Amino acid sequence: MKKFDPATELQKLQQFGEFGGVNPSITDSATYTFLGAETMLDTFHGETQGCFLYSRHWNPTNKYLAEALAAMEGTEAGWVTASGMGAITSAILQLVNTGDHIVASETTYGGTFAFLKNYLPKFKIDVTFVNPRKIDEIQNAIQENTKLVYLETMSNPLLQIANIPEISKVVKKTNAKLMVDNTFTPMIFSPAKLGADIVVYSMTKFINGKNDCVAGAICGSQEYINSLISVNDGTAMLLGPVIDPLRSSNILKNLYTLHIRMKKHSENAAFMAEKFAEMGIKAIYPGLKSHPDHELMTKLFNKEYGYGGMIAIDLETPERAAKFMETMQDKGVGYLAVSLGYFRTLFSNSGKSTSSEIPEDIQKSMGLSPGLVRFSMGLDQDMENTASMIKSAYESL
Ligand code: PLP
Repeated sequence: MKKFDPATELQKLQQFGEFGGVNPSITDSATYTFLGAETMLDTFHGETQGCFLYSRHWNPTNKYLAEALAAMEGTEAGWVTASGMGAITSAILQLVNTGDHIVASETTYGGTFAFLKNYLPKFKIDVTFVNPRKIDEIQNAIQENTKLVYLETMSNPLLQIANIPEISKVVKKTNAKLMVDNTFTPMIFSPAKLGADIVVYSMTKFINGKNDCVAGAICGSQEYINSLISVNDGTAMLLGPVIDPLRSSNILKNLYTLHIRMKKHSENAAFMAEKFAEMGIKAIYPGLKSHPDHELMTKLFNKEYGYGGMIAIDLETPERAAKFMETMQDKGVGYLAVSLGYFRTLFSNSGKSTSSEIPEDIQKSMGLSPGLVRFSMGLDQDMENTASMIKSAYESL
Protein backbone atom coordinates (compact mmCIF):
# COMPACT_ATOMS: atom_id res chain seq x y z
CA MET A 1 0.00 0.00 0.00
CA LYS A 2 1.23 3.49 -0.85
CA LYS A 3 2.33 5.46 2.21
CA PHE A 4 0.03 8.29 3.30
CA ASP A 5 1.33 11.56 1.89
CA PRO A 6 -0.17 14.79 3.30
CA ALA A 7 0.62 16.94 0.24
CA THR A 8 -0.91 14.42 -2.17
CA GLU A 9 -4.03 14.18 -0.04
CA LEU A 10 -4.34 17.98 -0.21
CA GLN A 11 -3.85 17.93 -3.97
CA LYS A 12 -6.77 15.53 -4.38
CA LEU A 13 -9.18 18.15 -3.02
CA GLN A 14 -11.21 20.17 -5.48
CA GLN A 15 -12.66 23.31 -4.00
CA PHE A 16 -14.03 25.95 -6.34
CA GLY A 17 -15.20 29.50 -5.82
CA GLU A 18 -18.41 31.09 -7.03
CA PHE A 19 -18.21 31.72 -10.81
CA GLY A 20 -15.70 28.87 -11.12
CA GLY A 21 -12.95 30.73 -9.26
CA VAL A 22 -9.94 28.49 -8.71
CA ASN A 23 -9.79 29.75 -5.15
CA PRO A 24 -12.84 29.13 -2.98
CA SER A 25 -14.91 32.26 -2.45
CA ILE A 26 -14.65 34.28 0.71
CA THR A 27 -17.92 34.45 2.59
CA ASP A 28 -17.72 37.47 4.81
CA SER A 29 -21.11 37.16 6.40
CA ALA A 30 -21.79 36.71 10.07
CA THR A 31 -25.28 35.32 9.52
CA TYR A 32 -27.16 33.43 6.76
CA THR A 33 -30.71 33.52 5.42
CA PHE A 34 -33.03 30.54 5.06
CA LEU A 35 -35.81 30.15 2.55
CA GLY A 36 -37.85 28.21 5.08
CA ALA A 37 -38.10 28.55 8.85
CA GLU A 38 -38.02 24.77 9.25
CA THR A 39 -34.56 24.54 7.63
CA MET A 40 -33.24 27.05 10.15
CA LEU A 41 -34.40 24.89 13.02
CA ASP A 42 -32.80 21.78 11.49
CA THR A 43 -29.54 23.66 10.91
CA PHE A 44 -29.53 24.69 14.56
CA HIS A 45 -29.52 21.03 15.46
CA GLY A 46 -26.70 20.38 12.99
CA GLU A 47 -28.90 18.42 10.61
CA THR A 48 -28.81 20.33 7.32
CA GLN A 49 -26.00 19.70 4.85
CA GLY A 50 -24.79 22.78 2.99
CA CYS A 51 -26.67 25.27 5.17
CA PHE A 52 -24.91 27.74 7.39
CA LEU A 53 -26.34 29.31 10.49
CA TYR A 54 -23.92 31.77 11.98
CA SER A 55 -20.19 32.25 11.42
CA ARG A 56 -19.14 31.46 14.99
CA HIS A 57 -20.49 27.99 14.29
CA TRP A 58 -19.41 27.47 10.69
CA ASN A 59 -18.38 29.84 7.98
CA PRO A 60 -18.06 28.41 4.43
CA THR A 61 -14.53 29.81 3.97
CA ASN A 62 -13.42 28.38 7.30
CA LYS A 63 -14.96 25.09 6.28
CA TYR A 64 -12.80 24.94 3.13
CA LEU A 65 -9.69 25.40 5.24
CA ALA A 66 -10.86 22.89 7.85
CA GLU A 67 -11.55 20.31 5.11
CA ALA A 68 -8.11 20.87 3.61
CA LEU A 69 -6.45 20.41 7.00
CA ALA A 70 -8.45 17.25 7.67
CA ALA A 71 -7.34 15.90 4.28
CA MET A 72 -3.72 16.74 5.08
CA GLU A 73 -3.96 14.99 8.47
CA GLY A 74 -6.06 12.05 7.32
CA THR A 75 -8.78 12.81 9.88
CA GLU A 76 -12.53 12.85 9.29
CA ALA A 77 -12.93 16.53 10.14
CA GLY A 78 -11.33 19.74 11.33
CA TRP A 79 -12.14 23.14 12.80
CA VAL A 80 -10.17 26.38 12.61
CA THR A 81 -9.56 28.95 15.30
CA ALA A 82 -8.23 32.47 15.72
CA SER A 83 -5.04 31.30 17.48
CA GLY A 84 -3.15 28.15 18.37
CA MET A 85 -4.07 28.64 22.03
CA GLY A 86 -7.72 29.02 20.96
CA ALA A 87 -7.43 25.57 19.36
CA ILE A 88 -5.55 23.94 22.23
CA THR A 89 -7.72 25.30 25.04
CA SER A 90 -11.02 24.53 23.25
CA ALA A 91 -9.85 21.06 22.24
CA ILE A 92 -8.82 20.26 25.82
CA LEU A 93 -11.84 21.78 27.57
CA GLN A 94 -14.16 19.78 25.32
CA LEU A 95 -12.75 16.54 26.76
CA VAL A 96 -12.49 17.27 30.47
CA ASN A 97 -14.88 18.09 33.29
CA THR A 98 -14.36 19.06 36.90
CA GLY A 99 -12.70 16.17 38.73
CA ASP A 100 -11.03 14.76 35.62
CA HIS A 101 -7.35 14.24 35.14
CA ILE A 102 -4.87 14.93 32.35
CA VAL A 103 -1.44 13.43 31.70
CA ALA A 104 0.71 15.94 29.84
CA SER A 105 4.24 16.16 28.61
CA GLU A 106 6.43 18.44 30.71
CA THR A 107 8.02 19.76 27.52
CA THR A 108 5.24 21.68 25.86
CA TYR A 109 4.99 25.22 24.56
CA GLY A 110 5.04 27.60 27.58
CA GLY A 111 1.48 28.87 27.00
CA THR A 112 0.13 25.32 26.94
CA PHE A 113 2.12 24.50 30.07
CA ALA A 114 0.74 27.58 31.84
CA PHE A 115 -2.83 26.68 30.82
CA LEU A 116 -2.44 23.13 32.14
CA LYS A 117 -0.57 24.09 35.30
CA ASN A 118 -2.09 27.43 36.34
CA TYR A 119 -5.48 27.70 34.66
CA LEU A 120 -7.09 24.25 34.78
CA PRO A 121 -6.84 23.93 38.59
CA LYS A 122 -9.59 26.63 38.69
CA PHE A 123 -11.92 23.91 37.44
CA LYS A 124 -10.40 21.23 39.70
CA ILE A 125 -8.85 19.48 36.75
CA ASP A 126 -5.59 17.85 37.77
CA VAL A 127 -2.60 17.48 35.51
CA THR A 128 0.33 15.11 35.95
CA PHE A 129 3.40 16.16 33.99
CA VAL A 130 5.55 13.38 32.58
CA ASN A 131 8.65 12.87 30.51
CA PRO A 132 7.13 12.10 27.08
CA ARG A 133 10.02 9.81 26.20
CA LYS A 134 9.29 7.51 29.14
CA ILE A 135 6.31 5.44 28.12
CA ASP A 136 6.06 3.68 31.51
CA GLU A 137 5.89 7.09 33.16
CA ILE A 138 2.88 7.92 30.94
CA GLN A 139 1.31 4.54 31.63
CA ASN A 140 1.79 4.84 35.40
CA ALA A 141 0.39 8.37 35.46
CA ILE A 142 -2.91 7.36 33.84
CA GLN A 143 -5.73 7.08 36.39
CA GLU A 144 -9.34 6.01 36.16
CA ASN A 145 -10.43 9.64 35.66
CA THR A 146 -7.74 10.44 33.05
CA LYS A 147 -9.52 11.82 29.99
CA LEU A 148 -6.57 13.11 28.06
CA VAL A 149 -2.93 12.43 27.30
CA TYR A 150 -1.38 15.56 25.75
CA LEU A 151 1.97 15.96 24.05
CA GLU A 152 3.85 17.61 21.20
CA THR A 153 5.16 15.52 18.29
CA MET A 154 8.43 17.44 18.34
CA SER A 155 8.86 19.16 21.64
CA ASN A 156 9.71 22.78 22.15
CA PRO A 157 12.56 23.66 22.44
CA LEU A 158 14.53 20.42 22.91
CA LEU A 159 13.18 18.86 19.71
CA GLN A 160 12.45 15.53 21.35
CA ILE A 161 10.24 13.17 19.37
CA ALA A 162 7.19 11.48 20.86
CA ASN A 163 6.77 7.81 20.09
CA ILE A 164 3.12 8.29 19.09
CA PRO A 165 2.43 4.68 17.99
CA GLU A 166 3.66 3.25 21.31
CA ILE A 167 1.98 5.95 23.42
CA SER A 168 -1.24 5.48 21.50
CA LYS A 169 -1.21 1.73 22.28
CA VAL A 170 -1.08 2.60 25.98
CA VAL A 171 -3.79 5.28 25.72
CA LYS A 172 -6.15 3.13 23.65
CA LYS A 173 -6.43 0.67 26.57
CA THR A 174 -7.91 3.46 28.73
CA ASN A 175 -10.78 5.96 28.62
CA ALA A 176 -8.43 8.74 27.60
CA LYS A 177 -7.85 10.38 24.22
CA LEU A 178 -4.43 11.16 22.81
CA MET A 179 -4.04 14.77 21.67
CA VAL A 180 -0.90 15.87 19.85
CA ASP A 181 0.33 19.38 19.01
CA ASN A 182 2.04 19.05 15.62
CA THR A 183 2.90 22.74 15.20
CA PHE A 184 6.65 22.16 14.65
CA THR A 185 6.21 19.40 12.10
CA PRO A 186 3.23 19.74 9.75
CA MET A 187 3.49 17.22 6.88
CA ILE A 188 6.71 15.85 8.41
CA PHE A 189 4.60 13.85 10.85
CA SER A 190 1.04 12.65 10.37
CA PRO A 191 0.11 12.10 14.04
CA ALA A 192 -3.44 10.84 13.38
CA LYS A 193 -2.00 8.19 11.07
CA LEU A 194 0.41 7.22 13.85
CA GLY A 195 -2.41 6.76 16.37
CA ALA A 196 -3.30 10.18 17.82
CA ASP A 197 -7.03 10.86 18.27
CA ILE A 198 -6.81 14.63 17.94
CA VAL A 199 -4.19 16.83 16.28
CA VAL A 200 -3.90 20.52 17.16
CA TYR A 201 -1.92 23.27 15.50
CA SER A 202 -0.79 26.78 15.91
CA MET A 203 -1.18 27.73 12.23
CA THR A 204 0.61 30.97 13.12
CA LYS A 205 3.81 29.04 12.43
CA PHE A 206 4.76 26.83 9.47
CA ILE A 207 1.25 26.22 8.14
CA ASN A 208 0.62 29.87 7.34
CA GLY A 209 4.32 30.66 7.10
CA LYS A 210 3.94 34.42 6.61
CA ASN A 211 3.91 35.65 10.20
CA ASP A 212 1.02 37.97 9.35
CA CYS A 213 -1.57 36.53 11.73
CA VAL A 214 -2.22 34.11 14.57
CA ALA A 215 -4.42 31.10 13.88
CA GLY A 216 -5.04 27.54 15.01
CA ALA A 217 -6.65 24.25 14.04
CA ILE A 218 -8.14 21.11 15.54
CA CYS A 219 -8.38 17.89 13.52
CA GLY A 220 -10.15 14.72 14.67
CA SER A 221 -13.19 12.52 14.23
CA GLN A 222 -16.42 13.97 12.86
CA GLU A 223 -18.11 13.16 16.16
CA TYR A 224 -15.53 15.09 18.15
CA ILE A 225 -15.59 18.14 15.85
CA ASN A 226 -19.41 18.12 15.96
CA SER A 227 -19.23 18.04 19.76
CA LEU A 228 -16.90 21.07 19.75
CA ILE A 229 -19.41 23.16 17.82
CA SER A 230 -22.58 21.89 19.42
CA VAL A 231 -24.86 24.85 20.12
CA ASN A 232 -25.70 23.37 23.52
CA ASP A 233 -22.35 22.44 25.01
CA GLY A 234 -19.61 22.79 22.40
CA THR A 235 -16.55 24.58 23.77
CA ALA A 236 -15.63 26.14 20.44
CA MET A 237 -19.18 27.30 19.80
CA LEU A 238 -19.66 28.67 23.31
CA LEU A 239 -16.24 30.24 23.95
CA GLY A 240 -16.13 31.50 20.37
CA PRO A 241 -12.45 31.47 19.29
CA VAL A 242 -13.45 31.41 15.62
CA ILE A 243 -11.11 32.73 12.92
CA ASP A 244 -12.06 35.51 10.52
CA PRO A 245 -12.82 34.12 7.02
CA LEU A 246 -10.59 36.68 5.32
CA ARG A 247 -7.69 35.21 7.27
CA SER A 248 -8.67 31.61 6.72
CA SER A 249 -8.85 32.16 2.96
CA ASN A 250 -5.25 33.45 3.05
CA ILE A 251 -4.08 30.52 5.13
CA LEU A 252 -5.74 28.08 2.73
CA LYS A 253 -3.74 29.52 -0.17
CA ASN A 254 -0.54 29.31 1.88
CA LEU A 255 -1.29 25.69 2.80
CA TYR A 256 -0.79 24.66 -0.82
CA THR A 257 2.90 25.66 -0.70
CA LEU A 258 3.53 24.08 2.70
CA HIS A 259 5.16 20.92 1.31
CA ILE A 260 7.75 22.93 -0.63
CA ARG A 261 8.42 25.22 2.31
CA MET A 262 8.81 22.35 4.79
CA LYS A 263 11.38 20.69 2.53
CA LYS A 264 13.38 23.92 2.26
CA HIS A 265 13.16 24.71 6.01
CA SER A 266 14.44 21.18 6.69
CA GLU A 267 17.18 21.40 4.08
CA ASN A 268 18.43 24.69 5.53
CA ALA A 269 18.33 23.46 9.14
CA ALA A 270 20.17 20.25 8.16
CA PHE A 271 22.80 22.37 6.37
CA MET A 272 23.22 24.53 9.47
CA ALA A 273 23.47 21.46 11.74
CA GLU A 274 26.45 20.30 9.69
CA LYS A 275 28.01 23.75 9.76
CA PHE A 276 27.67 23.85 13.56
CA ALA A 277 29.41 20.47 13.73
CA GLU A 278 32.26 21.85 11.58
CA MET A 279 32.51 24.80 13.97
CA GLY A 280 32.76 22.36 16.89
CA ILE A 281 29.37 23.42 18.28
CA LYS A 282 27.01 20.69 19.45
CA ALA A 283 23.66 21.37 17.83
CA ILE A 284 20.35 19.86 18.87
CA TYR A 285 18.79 18.66 15.62
CA PRO A 286 16.87 15.41 15.13
CA GLY A 287 18.45 14.94 11.72
CA LEU A 288 21.83 14.44 13.41
CA LYS A 289 22.78 10.89 14.37
CA SER A 290 23.89 12.32 17.74
CA HIS A 291 20.29 13.36 18.56
CA PRO A 292 18.77 10.86 21.01
CA ASP A 293 15.59 10.57 18.91
CA HIS A 294 17.21 10.39 15.48
CA GLU A 295 16.37 6.74 14.94
CA LEU A 296 12.84 7.10 16.24
CA MET A 297 12.15 10.06 13.96
CA THR A 298 13.67 8.21 11.00
CA LYS A 299 11.23 5.39 11.64
CA LEU A 300 8.12 7.52 12.05
CA PHE A 301 8.34 10.59 9.82
CA ASN A 302 7.28 11.31 6.23
CA LYS A 303 10.86 11.44 5.08
CA GLU A 304 10.44 13.56 1.95
CA TYR A 305 9.83 16.60 4.18
CA GLY A 306 13.04 16.22 6.17
CA TYR A 307 13.85 16.53 9.86
CA GLY A 308 12.28 19.95 10.29
CA GLY A 309 13.31 23.60 10.34
CA MET A 310 14.08 23.91 14.05
CA ILE A 311 17.58 23.70 15.47
CA ALA A 312 19.06 24.74 18.81
CA ILE A 313 22.50 25.35 20.26
CA ASP A 314 23.63 25.88 23.82
CA LEU A 315 25.46 29.11 24.64
CA GLU A 316 25.43 28.22 28.36
CA THR A 317 24.34 31.57 29.77
CA PRO A 318 21.49 33.94 28.88
CA GLU A 319 24.04 36.77 28.60
CA ARG A 320 26.08 34.97 25.92
CA ALA A 321 22.87 33.96 24.16
CA ALA A 322 21.69 37.60 24.16
CA LYS A 323 24.96 38.91 22.72
CA PHE A 324 25.05 36.18 20.05
CA MET A 325 21.47 36.90 18.98
CA GLU A 326 21.96 40.68 18.87
CA THR A 327 25.05 40.24 16.71
CA MET A 328 23.27 37.82 14.38
CA GLN A 329 20.43 40.31 13.98
CA ASP A 330 22.89 43.14 13.24
CA LYS A 331 24.59 41.02 10.60
CA GLY A 332 21.27 40.23 8.90
CA VAL A 333 20.92 36.51 9.74
CA GLY A 334 17.28 37.10 10.67
CA TYR A 335 15.32 38.43 13.62
CA LEU A 336 15.59 38.14 17.37
CA ALA A 337 11.97 37.15 17.84
CA VAL A 338 9.83 34.41 19.31
CA SER A 339 7.74 32.22 17.04
CA LEU A 340 8.76 30.01 14.17
CA GLY A 341 7.93 28.81 10.70
CA TYR A 342 8.56 32.18 9.05
CA PHE A 343 10.36 32.59 5.71
CA ARG A 344 13.09 34.56 7.51
CA THR A 345 15.22 32.96 10.22
CA LEU A 346 14.01 33.70 13.76
CA PHE A 347 15.97 33.06 16.94
CA SER A 348 15.23 33.34 20.63
CA ASN A 349 16.58 32.28 23.99
CA SER A 350 13.95 29.70 24.97
CA GLY A 351 14.36 29.80 28.76
CA LYS A 352 13.78 33.57 28.72
CA SER A 353 11.02 33.60 26.12
CA THR A 354 8.71 30.82 24.85
CA SER A 355 9.53 28.52 27.78
CA SER A 356 9.74 31.22 30.46
CA GLU A 357 6.38 30.10 31.91
CA ILE A 358 8.10 26.82 32.87
CA PRO A 359 9.62 27.25 36.34
CA GLU A 360 13.43 27.24 36.43
CA ASP A 361 13.67 23.99 38.41
CA ILE A 362 11.55 22.18 35.81
CA GLN A 363 13.57 23.79 32.99
CA LYS A 364 16.66 22.37 34.67
CA SER A 365 15.24 18.88 35.19
CA MET A 366 14.09 18.68 31.57
CA GLY A 367 17.58 19.65 30.39
CA LEU A 368 16.71 23.13 29.13
CA SER A 369 19.90 25.16 29.41
CA PRO A 370 19.50 28.88 30.27
CA GLY A 371 21.73 29.69 27.29
CA LEU A 372 19.78 27.67 24.71
CA VAL A 373 19.27 29.55 21.45
CA ARG A 374 16.52 28.13 19.28
CA PHE A 375 16.53 28.83 15.56
CA SER A 376 13.64 28.54 13.18
CA MET A 377 15.57 28.40 9.92
CA GLY A 378 14.15 30.53 7.13
CA LEU A 379 13.95 29.80 3.44
CA ASP A 380 17.34 31.40 2.64
CA GLN A 381 18.67 30.58 -0.81
CA ASP A 382 22.34 31.21 0.03
CA MET A 383 22.93 29.15 3.15
CA GLU A 384 26.74 29.42 2.84
CA ASN A 385 26.32 33.15 3.39
CA THR A 386 23.90 32.64 6.30
CA ALA A 387 26.25 30.13 7.92
CA SER A 388 29.22 32.46 7.59
CA MET A 389 27.27 35.30 9.29
CA ILE A 390 26.27 32.94 12.13
CA LYS A 391 29.88 31.76 12.43
CA SER A 392 31.24 35.28 12.67
CA ALA A 393 28.58 36.21 15.30
CA TYR A 394 29.67 33.17 17.31
CA GLU A 395 33.36 34.00 16.96
CA SER A 396 32.75 37.55 18.19
CA LEU A 397 31.50 36.30 21.58
N1 PLP B 1 1.89 25.26 20.18
C1 PLP B 1 3.19 25.51 19.94
C2 PLP B 1 4.13 24.35 19.77
C3 PLP B 1 3.66 26.82 19.87
O1 PLP B 1 4.97 27.05 19.64
C4 PLP B 1 2.74 27.89 20.06
C5 PLP B 1 3.15 29.32 19.98
O2 PLP B 1 4.29 29.67 20.05
C6 PLP B 1 1.40 27.59 20.31
C7 PLP B 1 1.02 26.27 20.35
C8 PLP B 1 0.39 28.68 20.53
O3 PLP B 1 -0.05 29.20 19.32
P1 PLP B 1 -0.59 30.70 19.08
O4 PLP B 1 0.53 31.63 19.42
O5 PLP B 1 -0.96 30.69 17.63
O6 PLP B 1 -1.76 30.89 19.96
